[in-house]
Amino acid sequence: MNTGGKTVYVNSDRIPYARQTVDDGDVEAVCGALRSGWLTTGPRVTAFEEAFSAAVGCAHAVAVSSGTAALHCAVHACGVGPGDEVIVPAITFVATANSVLYCGGKPVFADVDPDTLLLNPEDVRRRITKRTRAILAVDYAGQPCDYDALGAVAAEHDLSLIADACHSLGASYKGRSVGTLADITVFSFHPVKHITTGEGGMVTSSDADMAQRVRRFRNHGIARDHHERRRSGDWSYQMVELGFNYRLSDLNCALGISQLKKLPEWVSRRRAIADRYLNAFQDCRSVVPLHVCRDVVHSFHLFVVKVADEASRARAFAHFRQSGIDVNVHYLPVYLHPFYRRYQKTEPGLCPISEAVYNQILSLPMFPGMANGDVERVIRVAGDLDPRAPEPSR
Ligand SMILES: *Cc1c(COP(=O)(O)O)cnc(C)c1O
Repeated sequence: MNTGGKTVYVNSDRIPYARQTVDDGDVEAVCGALRSGWLTTGPRVTAFEEAFSAAVGCAHAVAVSSGTAALHCAVHACGVGPGDEVIVPAITFVATANSVLYCGGKPVFADVDPDTLLLNPEDVRRRITKRTRAILAVDYAGQPCDYDALGAVAAEHDLSLIADACHSLGASYKGRSVGTLADITVFSFHPVKHITTGEGGMVTSSDADMAQRVRRFRNHGIARDHHERRRSGDWSYQMVELGFNYRLSDLNCALGISQLKKLPEWVSRRRAIADRYLNAFQDCRSVVPLHVCRDVVHSFHLFVVKVADEASRARAFAHFRQSGIDVNVHYLPVYLHPFYRRYQKTEPGLCPISEAVYNQILSLPMFPGMANGDVERVIRVAGDLDPRAPEPSR
């Protein structure tokens, strides 16, 4: 697709719920990495980590091969092991809970607030046991959780607070930027997220030891990487724990550096689209956007609306899809997936609010490259939904 001389690489005429923006500058950046001779563990990795730390305002950033790898590193860095419990929201992508299982721990599901789908700090408190080790919060849709409340619960019970910020790059809470709000924070650069590296992720922390544990874990558990060995003029290395190859290549980091420059502009664009939706749906009976809290800057990875019930959701979903608009549903409560029902013997009823809200939600298209005409088309199609439908609770 050619938009006014600037080539934008896309592959669909339908309106997806999310889509990356890749331009010629990004292509040049990756080609530059290919020509540089450094394909991995080179200068672009460090440069991406430094640019990311600066953008987020955090002390340490460690690039890894995916958001899932970042979660695994973070949960491990908090010392979670066999027998430990980690509290996670019921409504999230499966990777959030899976990362606890990777470490031998047990994800304990807590319920969410029905208006924001953010982890409810009071429900977290109720699910704490003597085996609880950490709280793993998710900034659902791009809105930061109530970190003051979660931080207080964590401090009271001596727990680590981990932020899954895969939805919330560029967001802030009470003037503090996401990436600095928890003991350790995790980001994803999958193409549907705020910026992309193809696949990729980042872990941020203000704690140098925590960052060092992540660096070691992403490199097989080897205590010194090749940079440190070169500096010390020594060939030896020691593997001191079982780690993984979770490194992110210089090709991916070149793309990340180029994409990161556009983050402020893209977050503004997402927020402008959200404003248009919020305005259009203000007096709409059939769809109700999720609540946006005061004191936060929401970075709108997703724009989620609620409809009255499961039957209305099925009708709305079909109507959007038939109109060329690829709405989606984020997410089935994790413990209702067949694996969790088998593995943890979880049953419906565990998190009643999550289960009820899951049946009402729909994610509308939201991405920075979305044209104003496409936003209006989504609003028009939403307007076709039965205006006499029972009103979902606000
Ligand atoms: C995308 C996402 C992940 C996983 O990120 P990947 O980069 O795809 O591995 C984890 N948690 C949440 C909430 C996500 O949205």
